[in-house]
Order: sequence, then C-alpha cells, then structure tokens
Amino acid sequence: MAALSDSVRTLAGVGEKRAQALEKLGLRTLGDFLTYFPRDYEDRTVFYDTVSAPVGERVCIAATVGSEPTAARLRASLTVTRFRVFDGRGVMDMVLFNRPYAAKQLKKGEQYVFFGKVELYGSRRSMLLQAFEPLPEGSEPEGRLLPLYPLTQGVTRGMVESGVRAALACPGAEEEHLPPEALCRHGLLPRGQALREIHFPASMDEALRARRRMIFEELFTFSCALEKLKTRERRGSIAPFARVEPEEFFRLLPFAPTGAQRRAVEQIYADMCSGFRLRRLLQGDVGSGKTAVAAAAAYLTVKNGRQAVIMAPTEVLARQHYRTLSAMLEPAGISCALLCASLTAAQRREARAAAESGAAQVICGTHSLIQSDVVFKNAALFVVDEQHRFGVRQRAALGEKGDGHLLVMSATPIPRTLTLIIYGDLDVSVLDEAPPGRRTVKTFAVPEEKRRGMFGFIEEEAARGGQTYIICPMIEDDGGETERRAVTEYAESLRRACPRLRVGMMHGRLRPAEKKGVMDAFAAGELDVLVSTTVVEVGVDVPQATVMAVEDAQFFGLSQLHQLRGRVGRGERQSYCFLLYDGRSGAARERLAALCRSSSGFEIAEADLALRGPGDFFGSRQHGLPQFRAADLATDIALLSTAREAAQEYLERDPELDAVPALRAAVENALKDAEMLN
Ligand code: ADP
Ligand code: MG
Repeated sequence: MAALSDSVRTLAGVGEKRAQALEKLGLRTLGDFLTYFPRDYEDRTVFYDTVSAPVGERVCIAATVGSEPTAARLRASLTVTRFRVFDGRGVMDMVLFNRPYAAKQLKKGEQYVFFGKVELYGSRRSMLLQAFEPLPEGSEPEGRLLPLYPLTQGVTRGMVESGVRAALACPGAEEEHLPPEALCRHGLLPRGQALREIHFPASMDEALRARRRMIFEELFTFSCALEKLKTRERRGSIAPFARVEPEEFFRLLPFAPTGAQRRAVEQIYADMCSGFRLRRLLQGDVGSGKTAVAAAAAYLTVKNGRQAVIMAPTEVLARQHYRTLSAMLEPAGISCALLCASLTAAQRREARAAAESGAAQVICGTHSLIQSDVVFKNAALFVVDEQHRFGVRQRAALGEKGDGHLLVMSATPIPRTLTLIIYGDLDVSVLDEAPPGRRTVKTFAVPEEKRRGMFGFIEEEAARGGQTYIICPMIEDDGGETERRAVTEYAESLRRACPRLRVGMMHGRLRPAEKKGVMDAFAAGELDVLVSTTVVEVGVDVPQATVMAVEDAQFFGLSQLHQLRGRVGRGERQSYCFLLYDGRSGAARERLAALCRSSSGFEIAEADLALRGPGDFFGSRQHGLPQFRAADLATDIALLSTAREAAQEYLERDPELDAVPALRAAVENALKDAEMLN
C-alpha cells in the first residue's frame, strides 16, 4: 500500500529525470500532490454531435475515427495531422497541430471523445483538436472538468493527475486539518471531500466550494503559525525595564512631540516594562517622526543599563540616524557609535570594540551590525528601520544577536489587510499625525512636452536656495553599469541644458565613501540638483530640498512614488513633486492623478493595492509576502480576517493544538517553512 510519505519515484513511469522535474514544482512525495492545486479547469462537460456543434465554442464530441490520420510537415516547427470522424448525425474534419505522435494512437474505426474548438472552413465544420480520450465500446461518454495544473518542462498534466489520484488513495489522505467547530461555523467541507473535489470537481460550483475550504485551511494554518510565533518570541524571561517617564526623554527634543509620537512611545514603554518582549511595528508616513520614537525606546533601554542597536538599510541612512540620535542623546550623557562598511578599518575596529565593551550605548549601522564578528556587550533593543523588505524569519534571526526587544519601523504605509499578513507576528503602532507646520507637497503629473518648463522651474528654485532630486528612469539591474551610465548621461545633458545648475550624481556603482561625499555635499547645499537612481528612496533628510522630479513615473508603484515624494517637504518652504510620464498613456495619467490628489500614504497604498494587486504592491516575493498554494492575496484577503479570528479564538481553547494533530503538524511545518512565513 502506498503511503503519503512515499517518494514520487514510486509512481509508475517516474524515474530519476521525471522526479527531478517534479521536484522543481515542489513535488517530492505523494503527499505533496494533495495540495498541488489546479490553477484552473477546462470545461469538458458540454457534448454536441458533429452537426449541431456550435462554431467558435470549445466542446466535446463522441465520434468514431473514419479515416487514417495523415501527418504533414508544413514548416520545420509545424506539423498538422488531419482525419475525419463520424457519428450518427454526420461527419467532421479534425485538425491537430504539432502532435504527430499523439495522432499515431488514434485507430480507424474506434470511438473517442474529442475535445476542441469548432471552426468553419467554407461550409464545413471542423474541430481544432486539443485532446482526445478513447471511449470503450458500449460505455457512455462522460464529461468532466479537467484540472489544469501549473506545469514545467518534463511534467505533463497527466503525470500530475496520476500523482494526485495515487495520493488521494493513500491512508491518511483525508485526515482533517481543521477543528470540527470551525468546519461547522464557517460551513466548510470535510478535508477529504474538499481535496477530491478541488482536483476532480463535477461542476464549477463544486470546485469553488472545495477551493474555499482549502483557502480557509491555508489561512487558518498560517494564522496559527503567526500566533505561535508571536507568543514564542514574546515569551521567555526578560527582566522588565524600570519605568522612566517619557517626559524625561521628550525634554531632550528640539520640538514638542506630536500626539501620535506620544502614544507610540507610551505603548513602547509599557511593553518594555511588562516583562514581555516588545515586538512592535511602528508605522508612519515619511516625515511623521519615527526617529524620535526610536530614540525614546533607546533612551529607556540605556537608562536600564543596556545597549540599543539601530539598523538601517543603507549607509546614508545609518549615518543620518547616527547624527540625529547623537544630537538627541549625547546631551543626556549617552554615547553613540556608528558601524558601517564605509568606515576605515581603524574606525571600524574602534566601533566594534566600543560595542563589545559597552562604551557605546547606542549603536547605529547597516546590515553589518548583524555580522558574526560584531558582539554587543548587552544589547536589549533592536530597531530595524524601513524594513518592509524584512520577512518574519529574518526578524526572528535578528533576535539571535541578543536577547531583546524588537521595534520595526516602516515608512511604507501598507493596507491593513496586508499588514496582518506581513507583520502578523508584531503589534502595531501608527504615527498618523504629521508634525506641525508641514505643508503638503504640491504634486503634478508632467507630460514630456512640459519638461523644459520643469527644468526652468528647477533653475528658479535653485536661485531661491531650493534643492532638487531627480530620479532617473528605471533600468534593468545588471550590477550597476547601465545604472551608472544612465545617471551620468542624464546629468551631462542636464548640465548642458541648464549650465548654471550645480549637478551631482548618485548611483549604485559609487563606493560607500563616494556616496557619503555626494550626500554630504547635497546636504551642505553645495549642489543644486542630485541626479539619482532610487538609492535615495529611503529616508534621507535634507530639509532645504524642495523639488522631487521622477522620470518615467508610470513605471513606479504609487506607494514607491509617495515614498520618494516624502524626501521633500521636510523644511519650512513649499515643496513640489513632478511626475514625468509618457503623455500618450491615459492610464498612466489616471494612476498618477491618485498621487496628485492625496497626501496620505495609507490612502495611496489602498489605491495601489486596488490598482495593481498585492503581488506588484511589493514588487516581488522577497518583500515579505508569503507564498500561498490555494489562497490568492488579490482576491482572498477578506477570508484572511475571518480565518485569523477563527484561529485566534481556537488557540485560546487549545493552545497546543492537541485536538487536531494534523493541524499541529502543519503549523510546525509552517514555522520551519520559508515559503509560508518567508
Ligand atoms: P520619518 O518618520 O520619515 O523617519 P523623521 O524621524 O526623519 O521622519 O522626521 C522627519 C523630520 O521631522 C525630522 O527633521 C524631524 O526632526 C522632524 N520632526 C519629527 N518630529 C517632530 C515634531 N514632533 N515636531 C516637529 N518636527 C518634528
Ligand atoms: Mg526615517
């Protein structure tokens, strides 16, 4: 008897080579086939006879082969096989492209079910044949919905189908993964039935019902895993911090905190003094003042005799954090250090030593902070900035650098539903209030013919002391060379067009020290324009920058554009954002209009999600979206909230999932599985 844990090689006809091909699809054992769901179905339930088959439709016909199939080679890559079939009503011509071997299986005089598209040649009906199956003498033709699976080279639909059938016949294939009360409450099919019907449905309705059940199971399992992760990370002994009044820290700031900043700091302090680990997402639009909140958390940490570590995604940003935090905290006698790749070897050694000895109490840096040769004396707070790119698993790995609190800061406003998925293991604080005096950035979609005018405006701004970022057209990533060329050429032509402008350049080919040089010059007002690729995307703070111009804006996501726009409007002066686009594209203009209308990152994020779907929303999978098998984030988001509530409710009653062993195993797998938690 076959078992779900058997290798795919136990299937008839599957050897080394096919096993490798199946492995590419994630199919290693028979059990893997159970949840390898069809991406769609082909309706083969509609039967006609040779005379009534409607032209243009894809239908089934039960008929007998009446002429020997003959194959002809039309071109090197094109063969066509023709033959004639008949039934009780008449005859029809069959046309089969590029499958001479398949055609050889057809025997004159035998009956088959033919499936394909009916076409009219002159007055004759023929069928563009897609598939056929023998119809044994005396049996009735039976229609079905044919499951269509995602395939790869060397794997046919039939192979997957026989794998699925073998798996469904194994003992344990029907074991329930959901608690009975959830099935009942949400009107879900038992698992065995759902699996049979999702693979081999009798009707589209049946398929949909089965799919809904499997989506629910997937999201329920995912939610359980997140909840488990949340409690696991949070649990364990961590000494509660002694409380310090937030006011004590606020007095160090050159400004009064906003209400939102106060609330976030209060939540963070409460967590850190609770004896549980802080695991929180601080979400706030660009410019909402997340840095001060991070500094408040660092302050409490240092006051409790522990180190705080602030990690930024880029050198530029790490340096900026270092400057800001030093300015806020050093007056209170707190020593800060910077650790990143662009330091000299001696500086780096010194910073590492200070981190290890505890001489540095707040350490800012890039990813180099979590390298293995960096040791902290007693770090108890890790702040990760701008890391919507970080997955759940990477966050978990961060914790290994020290036993401590985690604060994740994101400037990418994410629709609430997606927050649940990506940050489901974290609590959330939102900075939904801009610091006072902030003006909205005036935003314009600029077609090509108005580019000259825009350059003129940039020159005038420069004369008034306002600086400009220009984001170059996006180009393919080839290690930075085309990027360098594009930026250089753009800067050259800008210098020719506007000789008075002092133009600097920023791109991926610059060494860290060069980047720093350019950024410093821009921040010091020695450059009027910084031509750049999207490296400046993340949180650089230059208050006198008043113009952000983005070339080829139609290629960016709205949220990304919003993020870029946040680089300006940080000072007193009115700021502007110009979105250059291909003026012929009405769709582009319409999309960009959403940005011109709204200055709320959350509104824009919702619009972006609606317009492009969640896949595009984050660009690609490394952005922390889990990979689901049944669920489609574009359409099944509503079910996520339901499944999540059900999971939370269930975990309260059965925290170890003892009552449903299959669920417990699936959750444990998810916790190990990079696909699901990313
Ligand atoms: P972000 O949330 O994008 O990281 P920052 O922390 O860099 O924002 O803050 C953006 C700017 O706003 C900084 O120049 C900072 O000094 C200023 N700022 C932050 N909070 C306030 C406040 N409550 N009042 C006035 N200015 C503030
Ligand atoms: Mg920031």
